[in-house]
Amino acid sequence: MVKFIYDAEKCVLPHDPEQLRPTVCLKCIEACPKSLLMFRPVREKDLSGAPVRYEIHMAFKSQADKYCPSCLRCVEVCPKKAIRIK
Ligand code: SF4
Ligand code: SF4
Repeated sequence: MVKFIYDAEKCVLPHDPEQLRPTVCLKCIEACPKSLLMFRPVREKDLSGAPVRYEIHMAFKSQADKYCPSCLRCVEVCPKKAIRIK
């Protein structure tokens, strides 16, 4: 069974107020051949109403067996070792 494990403490994606998105890293998203990875804002907002940071999310996570072939490219490109696939 494929399990996507993500450590938000290691992967820090700050909000860029000018571009309204994280502008750092996102290498895992670029590397995924199945386009399963995406970023999404956390619920916590700062005083201006912007998300304090973003997190990486896997689409169809509950059906990862079906969609993720465990190629491990996301694991290999991550400079923070924030992703594990089990
Ligand atoms: S293991 Fe491969 S297919 Fe699965 S999420 Fe990572 S990069 Fe995408
Ligand atoms: S590659 Fe790693 S550090 Fe970069 S966005 Fe993805 S999980 Fe975060």
